[in-house]
Amino acid sequence: MHPLLRRLFEEHIGQGTALPPGWGPFLSAVDRAWGGAEPGEEPAVGEATFRALAETISAAVFVYRGTRYVYVNAAATALTGYSAEELLGMEFWELVHPDHREVVRERGMARQRGDRVPSRYEFRIVRKGGEERWVDFTSATVQYGGEPAALGTAFDVTDRRNASDELRESEERYRALFEESRDAIYMTGEDGRFEAVNQAALEMFGYAREEMLGMELRSLCVDPADCEAMDAEIARAGFVRDHEVRLRRSDGGVVDCLMSATRRSGERGAVQGIVHDISERKRAEAQLAYGAFHDPLTGLPNRALFLDRLAQAVERVRRRDGAALAVLFLDLDRFKVINDSLGHGTGDELLRALGARLGEALRPGDTAARFGGDEFTVLLEGVSDAVVATHVAQRILDSLARPFHLSRSEVYTSASAGIALHSGGSASPEELLRSAGTALGRAKARGRARCEVFDRAMHAEAMDRLQMEMDLRPAAERGELRLVYQPVVSLPEGGVAGFEALLRWEHPTRGRVLPEQFVPVAEETGLIVPIGEWVLEEACRQLRRWRERFPGRGVTVGVNLSPRQFSRPELVERVREILADTEVEPSALRLEITESLLIEHAGPTAAMLARLREAGVGLCMDDFGTGYSSLSYLHRFPLDTLKIDRSFVMRLGSGGDAEPIVRTIAALAHNLGLKVVAEGVETAAQLEELRALRCEYAQGYLFSRPLDAEDADRLLEDDPRW
Ligand code: C2E
Ligand code: CA
Ligand code: CA
Repeated sequence: MHPLLRRLFEEHIGQGTALPPGWGPFLSAVDRAWGGAEPGEEPAVGEATFRALAETISAAVFVYRGTRYVYVNAAATALTGYSAEELLGMEFWELVHPDHREVVRERGMARQRGDRVPSRYEFRIVRKGGEERWVDFTSATVQYGGEPAALGTAFDVTDRRNASDELRESEERYRALFEESRDAIYMTGEDGRFEAVNQAALEMFGYAREEMLGMELRSLCVDPADCEAMDAEIARAGFVRDHEVRLRRSDGGVVDCLMSATRRSGERGAVQGIVHDISERKRAEAQLAYGAFHDPLTGLPNRALFLDRLAQAVERVRRRDGAALAVLFLDLDRFKVINDSLGHGTGDELLRALGARLGEALRPGDTAARFGGDEFTVLLEGVSDAVVATHVAQRILDSLARPFHLSRSEVYTSASAGIALHSGGSASPEELLRSAGTALGRAKARGRARCEVFDRAMHAEAMDRLQMEMDLRPAAERGELRLVYQPVVSLPEGGVAGFEALLRWEHPTRGRVLPEQFVPVAEETGLIVPIGEWVLEEACRQLRRWRERFPGRGVTVGVNLSPRQFSRPELVERVREILADTEVEPSALRLEITESLLIEHAGPTAAMLARLREAGVGLCMDDFGTGYSSLSYLHRFPLDTLKIDRSFVMRLGSGGDAEPIVRTIAALAHNLGLKVVAEGVETAAQLEELRALRCEYAQGYLFSRPLDAEDADRLLEDDPRW
């Protein structure tokens, strides 16, 4: 078959067009007509035969001589949009897109000169109307109409070109993605060295491209085990997803990375991967974790973290690979007063400064924590000795006793500490803390600004207290509580003006328990509220009996109230009800309150006191001089009596030094219109001085111990004069 014919045939087939019926015999006829010319020879083909053939194929066929078309087939008119007549009137180059004309012209000239140039190339043509199409163009020299001419066949390859353009574009997109990605992207060779890295990789790790190419990925690993694990996984599965690795920057900084990598096809160790910098997220996570375990105000570990550390330390002691430990429980002595009087801002500032000072006072391995409010805890590891622990605690207390220079004030404070030691045994962290807390309670009870070590006796006492707490609950129902009455003597006359009701607990096995032992327990547990109510009722019932039996004597009774009872707003209403039920004149009842109530619950208390005063009840400031000893706030509360604490009265008479103090207190109280009671009067000398200081009332063993109601009755009947 003639080569040109074969080519036309193949291209026809190649275009996927079905062969027209009878095509085979027709081709054979053409072949014969062409006379089986040898390859390379210019075929002599009859024009009619050629046309008959050319009209049937889908390739566009152009025959041109010089620059003029002399023949075009139907496919050529379809391709170009021009009619055959129009094309035959056109110059060859007019169809060619201006961008390609030069190339096409050069090739045509080269062929005319006989150069061996590719006979097949692609260029764009411009269709009628301006649309551009890509064509795959093949040209050959033929004899046409007896003269040499150029035969061109063209296929529309626009779609294929567009597809490859898209491919190229997408390659460009990938390149842009690669270069502009904020994630580092890399490829390594079989030797694990970087072969390609993007800009982000250079920035992430702080290298120049020349430096980084050729480096091993492994050399960046902070922990080589991380990279080994990743390599192992890639070797096993062919890829890793979101593998967390810490990589090192050129400047030594660490980047927390999330890496995904795939083994590149065919090559065993060669990998391509992407590295996402999660340092920011890690920092945020660390921040969150920090926040969960630290006190935001002081930055110290919080209760949760302290308990965790303590539990670990206890566990180490148990396994004997840790030495003993000591737990310190610290509490500010007057924080509430500072907070209330100077404001929360100052309170916070003080806690912050205190936290910092606490940190400074510790040894490196010790843990200080803010346990809550003004409570701090310290874990001293390796301390088994009470002397050493006390020494550390004392050093801390000393450092906290130095003045704090805060932005708006200079604050002096002190703290108390309780210590619990652990050197084995089965103590749990909770028990240790409870023990330290018990020791702290002891330190406070013994006058504050000191530390106490929890010991066996304290333990026994704590157990005892626990037992007492359990016994106290049903005590009131079982009728184990009763009141005794201590006479209050009117000083000018020396007769009984009234009594102070004092609580006693007749414990079935312990015998008579004094209020110092059980009132604090009752306060702590809240039992003081029902008990206090019972005291009020009982005292008023007794008062009522005395007022009936000794009319005109103006007998009064003082009842002690706990601060805790003031946390109940219904207190005032209960007092009114009890007075009404027992039909007692309100002025015959005197409620004794302490300074701490006024300081620590100032706001609501003042209102409640005012309402009690309105109801006609007398109000007495008890134990004056033991607490905050500030006369300045007394006028803010509707008091009518002030009771000078027995610690001052004790130091009166026979060379005591308290006379000026008591004189000042009495004078100020009188100035405020308050009557003065002196309690704890034991000697005649004290009585003399109190008389001289114009105290209105006195109370004490000198006159009488607290009495049972019947003994008090007898006393009223006898009514001695002192
Ligand atoms: P307080 O209110 O200061 O009561 C006076 C205490 O001093 C009583 O102790 C009394 O027995 C004691 N006393 C009286 N004269 C003398 C004296 O000449 N020398 C000495 N050294 N002491 C004297 P008591 O009865 O043991 O009460 C102790 C504290 O218990 C009371 O101190 C009071 O704060 C509290 N308390 C007693 N009864 C009640 C109560 O019903 N309710 C509340 N909330 N507290 C109570
Ligand atoms: Ca009292
Ligand atoms: Ca008192």
